[in-house]
Amino acid sequence: MNNNTVQLKENELLALVDKNRALDATYKLIEIILGTNDFDEMAQKIADIIPMALGYEFSILWLVDEQRQKLVKTAISQTIKDENVMRKLKDSLRSKSIALGYEDNLCIRAIKDKKQYVSGNLFDLLGPSVTLEDSKDIQALLGTKLNIATPLTVRDKAIGVLIVSMSKNADKISDFEKEMLRKFSENAGIALENSRLYKNLKEVKDDLNEAYENLMVLNKMKDEFLTVASHELRTPMTIVKSYLWMMDQHKTGKLNNKQKEYLQKAERGTQRMIDLINDMLNISRFEQDKVEFKIIQTNLCELIKEILTGFEIKTKSKGINLSFDEECLDVFVDIDKEKMRNVIINLIDNAVKFTDNGGIKVTVENEEDKVVIQIKDSGSGINPPDIPKLFHKFGRIDNSYTIASDTGGTGLGLYIVRLYVEGMGGKVWATSDGIGKGSTFWISLPKTTILKPGEKIESDSVKTLRVPIQQITSLS
Ligand code: ADP
Repeated sequence: MNNNTVQLKENELLALVDKNRALDATYKLIEIILGTNDFDEMAQKIADIIPMALGYEFSILWLVDEQRQKLVKTAISQTIKDENVMRKLKDSLRSKSIALGYEDNLCIRAIKDKKQYVSGNLFDLLGPSVTLEDSKDIQALLGTKLNIATPLTVRDKAIGVLIVSMSKNADKISDFEKEMLRKFSENAGIALENSRLYKNLKEVKDDLNEAYENLMVLNKMKDEFLTVASHELRTPMTIVKSYLWMMDQHKTGKLNNKQKEYLQKAERGTQRMIDLINDMLNISRFEQDKVEFKIIQTNLCELIKEILTGFEIKTKSKGINLSFDEECLDVFVDIDKEKMRNVIINLIDNAVKFTDNGGIKVTVENEEDKVVIQIKDSGSGINPPDIPKLFHKFGRIDNSYTIASDTGGTGLGLYIVRLYVEGMGGKVWATSDGIGKGSTFWISLPKTTILKPGEKIESDSVKTLRVPIQQITSLS
């Protein structure tokens, strides 16, 4: 065995040691990535394992703060066992950031050029956040001769830099070791970036949760306020209305025509206010999950006929026609009869309100699994882009204000219609060919969805259905 062979064996052995260290460092990095999602903990552990696994004196992680355009010190390895030296290093890093524009610093250059830089002088990597004297002292105390700055790159962008300091000379560091540091920094960069994104996401999620909770509290307060205010308003308004009615009926003496006209206007205004309060109370009960549906099998045709009879005087006095599907005799649905009565009255009342010529036609289509009611009028019509606004709170549309102010109305009617119909498992919608071309309001009701599969409702049985609050809040 000659000298060359011995030399070769020694080199091979050193390369093997390097590879072994690289494997060890990679394995430890994987352990860190799998072990924590916490950004600060991950940064500290990454700073610790590099010198530990590779036998360097210490390492420092600096990360880019995009907003402040600075490189910010994030972690120093805890490998320096001598407390005094450690304190000296920490204390001497007085300013904890370096402006990204300071290109005399090799870390900044490593980030800009996405290249590794090597220097025997620690000041080249830490200045000006450390003075030249301090950096010399630290090097002397630790015996470090070589410092390497390797950029942490993620998808071709440098997000920070890893500094390692070692006690060997520049000629003793192999290309493999430098390459290994580059690879290690790449993986550490990806891990840190993911952790930073996770931290941001978690912060956003926490903020959203807090905002949501605050909103829920405010919403509850608003509901309670509305309920109390409405209750408190309803009683005095009812008293005012009854006194106005008594005066109108000449119970307090004869009135001249002007007085009568003004009194009737005041009565109409009071009635509108009472309607508004009642609608608000209904909605508020709904939103507080206090509405119950008493589901009962009902003959829909009979219910509609009964309601239409109540509108005859009104339509006759307006000179418009009101007709109902002759073929509708017995169509049964499982509904809350009183709420459905409310819904149909509301829709027909609107149709009468917005129709001056022609008339209103109500039909019922009995389909296999559902029943569809159509209330078609030849009235003022609706601009199609306005249709989606109708079923929301105060969903009045611009062109209706004059009519509504003459005829009354709260802008809450269709919202309540929707709450009721959807609460019974149905759907409500409107169609119109445009202004002046009439409108049609549709209600589709399931025939059986309220029942469990196989379950039958006896004609006189009553079912109570509570509507979950989420269903209601999603409507507003
Ligand atoms: P309001 O009590 O003000 O009538 P609604 O919620 O019942 O409130 O109706 C909201 C708006 O929908 C009305 O102001 C009107 O603009 C429009 N609308 C409702 N029904 C009709 C209809 N049959 N024809 C034309 N517009 C209608």
